[in-house]
Amino acid sequence: MPDFPKPGIQFRDITTLLADPAALRTSVALLAAQVRQSGASVVAGMEARGFIFGAAVAIEAGLGFVPIRKPGKLPIETIGVDYALEYGTDRLEVDPGAFPNGTRVALVDDLIATGGTALAAAELVAKAGGEVASALFVIDLPDLGGADRLRGAGIDVHTLIAFDGE
Ligand code: AMP
Repeated sequence: MPDFPKPGIQFRDITTLLADPAALRTSVALLAAQVRQSGASVVAGMEARGFIFGAAVAIEAGLGFVPIRKPGKLPIETIGVDYALEYGTDRLEVDPGAFPNGTRVALVDDLIATGGTALAAAELVAKAGGEVASALFVIDLPDLGGADRLRGAGIDVHTLIAFDGE
């Protein structure tokens, strides 16, 4: 979808994929296979579209799910990280007790663009005492360099489909 949510942004809308039973099942199964291989013991998804895939992948992999939330959503004292987006800035928060004793975490989101969101989530996982076992995305926009930034930070990255351009 061109020019959404702002002029100049080519928005990759996952709604049609979610509505297609075979595409949804296949996406979740492929991501869950990577989670199993990574040896993660929990799946964490970034609000909001990371919740859809992350929770489904957690169920498929037989693991629990931790929501990494936008500010002010959790009814507890949280820890947080501020970060820059492809459009605007934001903050992620999590339960400080979510990843005790080096818990190995699989991060899941619908799409990686600049990698700012995923790097903030990885920082948050580390702040909460966990370790990122892998970072998984349905869509990669390789021209924006996010997956490479994550790999440069030593994170194991897997994506299902890539689109040229922004
Ligand atoms: P980034 O932090 O730049 O890697 O952006 C990734 C996050 O922003 C993900 O949660 C995506 O859902 C969302 N996002 C960024 N760019 C796009 C885009 N072009 N189309 C759809 N979602 C996007």
